Amino acid sequence: MIRDTHAVISARGAKRWEQGHPWVFRSDVVQPPASPPGAVPVRDQKGRGLGWALWSPASEISLRLIDRDPNATIDGEWWHTILDRAISRRAPLNTAETTAYRLVHGEGDGAPSLIADRFDRWIVVQFLSAGIEAFRAEIVGALQSITGAEGGLARNDASVRSREGLERRVEPLWGTVPQEIEVAEYGVKFLAAPHTGQKTGAFLDQRENRALVGSVARGRALDMFSYHGSFALHLARSADMVTAVDSSGPALERARENLALNGLTTVTLTEADAFEFLRSEVARGARYNTIVLDPPAFAKNRASVDGAIRGYRDINLHAMRLLETGGLLYSASCSYHVTKPLFLQMIQDAAAAAGRRIVLRAITGQPLDHPEVVTIPETGYLKGVLVEAAD
Ligand code: SAH
Repeated sequence: MIRDTHAVISARGAKRWEQGHPWVFRSDVVQPPASPPGAVPVRDQKGRGLGWALWSPASEISLRLIDRDPNATIDGEWWHTILDRAISRRAPLNTAETTAYRLVHGEGDGAPSLIADRFDRWIVVQFLSAGIEAFRAEIVGALQSITGAEGGLARNDASVRSREGLERRVEPLWGTVPQEIEVAEYGVKFLAAPHTGQKTGAFLDQRENRALVGSVARGRALDMFSYHGSFALHLARSADMVTAVDSSGPALERARENLALNGLTTVTLTEADAFEFLRSEVARGARYNTIVLDPPAFAKNRASVDGAIRGYRDINLHAMRLLETGGLLYSASCSYHVTKPLFLQMIQDAAAAAGRRIVLRAITGQPLDHPEVVTIPETGYLKGVLVEAAD
């Protein structure tokens, strides 16, 4: 039998598309296309054209919708239009104050499984599916022409690439991307490490929250899970002294460089396990006026949500106990599986266990450059609260 180059999907798969979600799982692909990874036309079982999707033969997420128009042509020009629209949305961030932000947030920008982050004059890209990998040349060409960036690097070492049947490696795309890039973030400077740092070299999703917490910080401050000191740099602008805690030696090495870069002398760096550190601070009766909790994703999948919640509750309970009266806690979670309601419930439980009157001052989410599309829950993962100990 000669197979067609289009895909046929089930009614359930088609319904998902109609509800604004771009993914079609393998179980909803009735007839896979006889094509290599790339863009394929998709039809329902009645033969109706549904549009175009990225095709990933090895993935559980077989098809990712990119265009509802069956007559679209998915070429370099098409990618240029999509990426230009995404990058134009970031115009408010394109100032001398912020030189590191996300240009493309995958499904959130209609470019499934594509990540592109700007660090000053360079771009770090992640091609996270076989379907998007097939358009590497078109995407690189469009990014170069839209941004005029000096160099690009592919951080294709992300683990999800294995599930797509793709190799994991870091490789240059164009020009030369430095090992460390100095970037500006609302009055502070830090060094991103595009080749070796976590994710694409820095955590950009907390940028606005760092500025927010920096603006209300005071007294003795604590930055837990500090990575290269990003929150600590902002806290130090208005707090008297800051302790930054992380378990990663290399991250703290860069934190030390970042402190020097900003001429800061009031920040102490501590290499420790956060759980143990918080517990011992409570035990010795320490008190802080400002605390930040920005842990890694404790829940990597749905099965680990309960354990993750216990972990979040533990650190939040301890942080609440450490607050002076009137003290502020900024607490975040980047676990997609810990939903907003679960996170708020955890904060409530921690406050009850802490026995303090904890007042909700703000609920935070994702910034402009990490768009959370309401019909695509997976585009949203970061949530946080700013709370105050009122008694
Ligand atoms: N706040 C940072 C990002 C933190 S990412 C920023 O805004 O840039 C999470 C950090 O937690 C990583 O740096 C990781 O090294 C650290 N980490 C993970 N497990 C830890 C633990 N048990 N104790 C202390 N730090 C931990």
